[in-house]
Amino acid sequence: MTHSVWYDADLRCSCGQHVTRAADTRLYSYRLNPEVRDIRLAPGQTLALDPEDFDDAFKRLRAPAADDRLRALEVWSCPSCGLPEYAILTFVPTPPDDYRLESVEAVDIEPAHVPQLHLVSWRALESLRLQSRAHDAAVLAAIDQAPLA
Ligand SMILES: [Zn+2]
Repeated sequence: MTHSVWYDADLRCSCGQHVTRAADTRLYSYRLNPEVRDIRLAPGQTLALDPEDFDDAFKRLRAPAADDRLRALEVWSCPSCGLPEYAILTFVPTPPDDYRLESVEAVDIEPAHVPQLHLVSWRALESLRLQSRAHDAAVLAAIDQAPLA
């Protein structure tokens, strides 16, 4: 048991050929859940979180959007391609102390996505660093240039 939140969403990988069922995407945020247990979260469902709980799972790039939405980059993997893939999770605060997972979108990550991100998971950062594609280096450079909130 860890503090992971596993996301219940089918995802299409960036090669465009494979749709991975939610049970096999390995899309999760390590340490996001403040309780010591793994949980599954589907779009539309809520989770009790304090704003600081995001810091255990994510590097903060900038303050939340004007509407308080948080867009977070997370990593998953396509079992057919065997390569890291990325997804953008959108969380909406639902007072007093919950966040609702609004959407999960698979993305072929590129630097142009970075300005709309508020959070990047530590797992996604590690994955980008391990890849040798020039593409990933460009995304990392954009992340490093993000103004800190
Ligand atoms: Zn694939």
